[in-house]
Amino acid sequence: MAMRTMKSVCRMCHGGCGVLIDVANDRVVEVRGDPEHPLTRGFMCPKGRATLALVHHPHRLTTPLRRIGPKGSTEFAEITWETALEEVADRLAQSMADAPESVVLSQGTDRNYQEWLFRFGNALGTPNVLGPAHICFYPKMMGSIMTLGDLTFPDYDGNPECIVIWGSNKIECHSDGVIGTGLMRAMRAGSQLIVIDPKRTALARKAKYWLRPKPGSDAALALGIIRVILDKGLENRAFIEAHTYGARELAEHVRAYIPEKVEELTWVPASLIEEAAIFYARASAAAIEVGTGIEQSTNAFAAIRAIRILSGICGNIDRRGGDVIWEPTGIIGRRDLPARHLLPESAEHKRLGSNEHRLLSMAGWAHPNAVWNAVLHGEPYPVAAMLVFGSNLLTLYANAARVQQALEAMPFLMVADLFLTPTARMADIVLPVATWVERNQIVEFNSYLAARRKALQVGQCKSDEEIINTLAQRLGLGEHFWHQADDSLNARLRPIGLTWKGLCELGYIANPPRYEKFRAAGFRTRDGLFYIASPVLRRMGYPSLPRYEEPKNMDRGEYLLTSAHSPFFFNSEFHNLPELRQRQPEPVAELHPCTAARHCLQEGMLAAIGANGAEALFRVQYNEYLDERVVYVPASWWDPEDEIWPRSWTQSNVNMLTTNTPPNPEMGTPQLRGIPCTLRAFVPPGATQVSTS
Ligand code: SF4
Repeated sequence: MAMRTMKSVCRMCHGGCGVLIDVANDRVVEVRGDPEHPLTRGFMCPKGRATLALVHHPHRLTTPLRRIGPKGSTEFAEITWETALEEVADRLAQSMADAPESVVLSQGTDRNYQEWLFRFGNALGTPNVLGPAHICFYPKMMGSIMTLGDLTFPDYDGNPECIVIWGSNKIECHSDGVIGTGLMRAMRAGSQLIVIDPKRTALARKAKYWLRPKPGSDAALALGIIRVILDKGLENRAFIEAHTYGARELAEHVRAYIPEKVEELTWVPASLIEEAAIFYARASAAAIEVGTGIEQSTNAFAAIRAIRILSGICGNIDRRGGDVIWEPTGIIGRRDLPARHLLPESAEHKRLGSNEHRLLSMAGWAHPNAVWNAVLHGEPYPVAAMLVFGSNLLTLYANAARVQQALEAMPFLMVADLFLTPTARMADIVLPVATWVERNQIVEFNSYLAARRKALQVGQCKSDEEIINTLAQRLGLGEHFWHQADDSLNARLRPIGLTWKGLCELGYIANPPRYEKFRAAGFRTRDGLFYIASPVLRRMGYPSLPRYEEPKNMDRGEYLLTSAHSPFFFNSEFHNLPELRQRQPEPVAELHPCTAARHCLQEGMLAAIGANGAEALFRVQYNEYLDERVVYVPASWWDPEDEIWPRSWTQSNVNMLTTNTPPNPEMGTPQLRGIPCTLRAFVPPGATQVSTS
């Protein structure tokens, strides 16, 4: 048996850990950490180590399918790629001729082909690309852009004295391989942590300060911290005077956030807020890691704005060991690959949700509420077809019952995925896609570039890039694409004088950060200033300074429901990989033991959690470190093993309990963290409830 070993980079999460893939007889034998990778040095988390189980899973889709039964069933027939692509292309050609905006393209979490999807949409003439941008990464990105014109990331290798981990659990959840290993390096080098999280995570256990806020109250907390810093005179006056706009307005604005009031809003003791604020402001350099934990409430955009302002007034922006401004790698990548110029301006105005959530639309994304409305009511125009690349819409979006109605009503649905997920079962055509070990890909991650290399072919699977490239060719859009998808690799690297072969030989490139770039060129805002108060937001009719507003309908439940990602799954993926599933076999509701006792619930019993007129079931697990008013459940849970069982994606799906309204105006973010809920012991029909008193 001839064994070959390839260097690559993992993509079981957002990715980036260097790996070695051993292949023999067209099968992956092992995927192991690459000890020579300079950043990750052989590290692999449980998800990465489960790659083998994913690649050769017996339920992998390996051939295109056409649905022959009702929507939601598992009745599909195998068809050829030729037939499948012809059918999809015919549908698209028809829509392009009638109304290109009637086509919606969709993806889940970014898998390094997001820019391809935008390029395809722009070439087709549709402004409607749908993804979870309003609840993941884009509140952070747009909040940052509206403040300083750019995105920042923590400079872990710049020796920060203090790192604030805000609503993020990188070490346990392993959602961003390269970033997580950077954080671990900084901790080993002596950085001290302030962890802000309703849950006592592994990082919280190592922190100098752990602040346990009410879920969704982060904006109030950030504004309270700013007030302490200004009151104590700990701000960086030199930076503020030379580079910012709106400092006076801020000082006036945060007067309302007195510590006692902030304690009431956030549940964090005023004395602890003060101590943490002083520690942060006095640090020689401090970085802030912002996670999706704070990007999923109606106050998310305000929270991000306040956090960026906090970093700015303490002089931590673009400072060594602070929050460094992202610099493009120079390849045809995040900025250029989407080819925005291909989309006519008139089409931009037709983006679904662009009137309601203008910042989300500025970032190029449609809003799910508007898409479902268009499908169900034909307003402002009907949707003719939806192409989904790697997204389980039924577990991803708020109000899953409405998503189901929309998919039922969708005139044509194509899904490209690894498995016959609940969403794929609603599709007319299902296409089998390659896993990360079966495709060549340029990985672009902050200032990091790496080569993900195809190690083998499984069945007839194709990468999403290949599918998009082939569809584009069939639709006569070839001039904007490549003869073969892999031809793009050299073309994209050409601006930095590199070839794909060259990048594969190097493995990865990471440009060292350059600090304080704003001193020479100013910030990338209209007048080069750091916007504490944003004139752009003011002109758009949004608040120019961030403010916290208590979400509506907070009195409708006894508890606040919130969710978190599991260390063993990546969003809705991998629940069907035995070695991961055995580490978390069931969806658990974490409760304080006193909360459980109040409802005669004991560890291991089933709890029915109710919100917004629905209930979902979770197995009770005690967590004595939670606030007694909080209930934690996993995000995006479903049971792939119950393929025929109609409740496999509804029974413990937190999005059966969430709603999309009323979302935040700027980004359309709904309240997903901190939803009023009820709690009761679940008694199966015919059973007798056991009293635990
Ligand atoms: S952290 Fe992410 S990239 Fe690293 S091994 Fe785990 S899944 Fe792979």
